[in-house]
Amino acid sequence: MITRTPTALQSGNATHGEDASEGVTLTPRQHSQDWQAQLRDAVRDPRALCRHLGLDPAWLPGAEEGHALFPVRVPHAYLSRIRYGDADDPLLRQVLPLERESDSVAGFVSDPLEEAEHRPRPGLIHKYRNRVLLIASPACAINCRYCFRRHFPYAENSPSRAQWESTLDYLRQDTSINEAIFSGGDPLASPDRRLAWLAERLADIPHLKRLRLHTRLPVVIPDRVDGALLDWLAATRLQTVMVVHINHPNEIDTHVADAMARLRGAGVTLLNQSVLLRGVNDDVETLARLSERLFDVGILPYYLHVLDPVEGAAHFDVSDAEAITLVETLRAHLAGFLMPRLVREVPGEASKTPLA
Ligand SMILES: *Cc1c(COP(=O)(O)O)cnc(C)c1O
Ligand code: SF4
Repeated sequence: MITRTPTALQSGNATHGEDASEGVTLTPRQHSQDWQAQLRDAVRDPRALCRHLGLDPAWLPGAEEGHALFPVRVPHAYLSRIRYGDADDPLLRQVLPLERESDSVAGFVSDPLEEAEHRPRPGLIHKYRNRVLLIASPACAINCRYCFRRHFPYAENSPSRAQWESTLDYLRQDTSINEAIFSGGDPLASPDRRLAWLAERLADIPHLKRLRLHTRLPVVIPDRVDGALLDWLAATRLQTVMVVHINHPNEIDTHVADAMARLRGAGVTLLNQSVLLRGVNDDVETLARLSERLFDVGILPYYLHVLDPVEGAAHFDVSDAEAITLVETLRAHLAGFLMPRLVREVPGEASKTPLA
């Protein structure tokens, strides 16, 4: 059982529980609530997930087993993009726990990136030159089954304001750092007042040029891109880059498209990273449509990651040979600027490692 501490998610109105939504299962509700209410209201139990989507009850025992390892979490705004009654839906596969997650597979481990070794300050990961990751929130809006952080010690990585001061000192002292990256969990699970405070402190450091956010929240809950977020993003002197995380074209509905338009309006450069996932996007046609759809809504494809070998995710694995063939074939279908870079993260390397 992993220990997540979704502090940003648990505060507030307890009456917005799962049971309150009984009987209105298929009504998309994303525009009736603010994003924090939508976070709290996420489906967090396999029975509710199967019921909402009309899945065969035969999926339930396996889902319960996977849930015990890494809990279900799916906000309704994302759920509304999953086809009803289709166990093969590519979005469902990303969030439905399976019995196979308990399988022990050689080479699939709990900390595949060995990040534990690169944490000079609380909430800070400094593995690459020029840029550092700040764990701005330990929580996520959605639990992706393939996530390399599914065993991450979140509780140890949720710094207080005083601890942030020590992290900020580290950044002030290392003038080779020119980019700060808000990561997580999902940094946008944090309230804007905390993020705005951090962004202001970072902007005071003269050698920092860019602020990057690695987040899935604008995709999972498009209403996250509200006035409060846009205000601080537009106000900072730092160049802002957002790397969203979209694996399949069906994830981009009109609400996501509108959220991306708002971000671009605030001067944010939009990039996407995907993970190559068996049964989700492991074919040329889907990857080509994904790139086209991303650019339709103003996002440039950036990375296509091969799966990190994390325990519980082996069933998503695509071999390197197959991944390289896929990407080489994809090249014939896409404009060069729509080609994501196929990469792997290798512990100890100075950057992500290109495969093709
Ligand atoms: C991916 C990553 C970065 C950013 O790398 P880019 O290649 O610049 O996107 C920085 N730090 C860590 C630990 C990362 O995993
Ligand atoms: S949003 Fe990202 S960090 Fe969070 S569970 Fe999904 S893949 Fe992992």
